[in-house]
Amino acid sequence: MSLAFVGFVFAGQTLFAQSPLKERPDAFPPKAENIDIDSKAINMAQTIGEMSSWDRYPTYETYLALMQGWAERYPDLCHIDTIGRSVQDRLILCARIQGNGATESANPEFFYSSTMHGDEVTGFVLMLRLIDTLLSGYGTNQQYTNLIDSVDIYINPLSNPDGTYRGGNSTVRYAMRYNANYVDLNRNFPDPFGTPPTDEQQVENTAMIEYVSNHSFRLSANLHGGSEVMNYPWDSFTSSENPHPDSDWWQQVCKRFVDTSRTYSNSHFRDVNSQGYIAGGDWYVIPNGRQDYMNYYHNCREMTMEISTIKLLGSEQLSEYWRFMQHPLVNYIAEIHTFTVGNVGVNYAGSSAGMLAVYPNPAQDKVFLSEEISVSSRVYNAQGQCVLQVPAGARCIDIKTLPQGVYILRVGNRSAKIVKR
Ligand SMILES: [Zn+2]
Repeated sequence: MSLAFVGFVFAGQTLFAQSPLKERPDAFPPKAENIDIDSKAINMAQTIGEMSSWDRYPTYETYLALMQGWAERYPDLCHIDTIGRSVQDRLILCARIQGNGATESANPEFFYSSTMHGDEVTGFVLMLRLIDTLLSGYGTNQQYTNLIDSVDIYINPLSNPDGTYRGGNSTVRYAMRYNANYVDLNRNFPDPFGTPPTDEQQVENTAMIEYVSNHSFRLSANLHGGSEVMNYPWDSFTSSENPHPDSDWWQQVCKRFVDTSRTYSNSHFRDVNSQGYIAGGDWYVIPNGRQDYMNYYHNCREMTMEISTIKLLGSEQLSEYWRFMQHPLVNYIAEIHTFTVGNVGVNYAGSSAGMLAVYPNPAQDKVFLSEEISVSSRVYNAQGQCVLQVPAGARCIDIKTLPQGVYILRVGNRSAKIVKR
């Protein structure tokens, strides 16, 4: 098949106390799969037609055909972007849904992506179905029409295609969490401490970082499986160490999501706690995840949606998950209208032992350090690359040559966020 693809406010965002990163505690092991892999139905759709009831997983070719088909069927509403390619050269795609002719929109940008853990496939199919539902509802369903006309909606259904199609393009049965290099993509992003990931940055994430850097996503969510809980920022800290400056807003958004879902099925979002949502770090702290990367470096409000206790859901259950997830997933997009976005604010009131203070911030030419540092240090960009070396004893860093953006100054185990204007 030949496919031609074209290519906040954190009012007073607090800085972070440096604390040692903890391993996932034993109290919260990954949930055991409760259906034997060989006994459940993993039906595959070989054609677009076989996806019509949304009770199958698409083969890789069917997935590509679905995406391309939407762009052809709704040329005024939908374009397919190629975010990049995986280690094994599979496409990482994003459906871009924009109303009003889809050109030069001034609407805020929203981003859904799913299945960066390749075996957490429920979200993959739900995202495909969401694209189809939004597009087919434009002009007939008032809610969807308003949403598409007021938000630029980006949906990346599959962030880790090599993990999902580990067993070959014709089945998801042998899907695995990792990419083809056996790296966990959700431990492979730059993090708020500037701590490099254990593994070299993977091509899937390099592509994702470039894509999100070229957009201004204000609200996003990343879909996972293995539990059912709305996991809001941060993941790098517990809420007592560093609450997200918008924790109250997050809790309201999460509550609305869970409440809506429970009007369709009361039994879900209960395996972690009764309320169905939690600050990520209070569940377990992880380093180098995508959620905190988006929040910290891109001023985007991103949460992690854990949407099914079973990672590789039997295909006959997909429709049931859609039934209670459809409305909250749609409503979550509209939450983009419930907050205002301003410049990146950095508040040093929260500065503590692990953090260095730099000023002015944001800055254009130079930033000054509040204290002399006795060791050499480095400045990293949002891609996790070292862009400046700072000699020991420096009190001032020249940032004139750096492009606009967010940087991390890392000195030993201490760090500071620098915003270049
Ligand atoms: Zn996951």
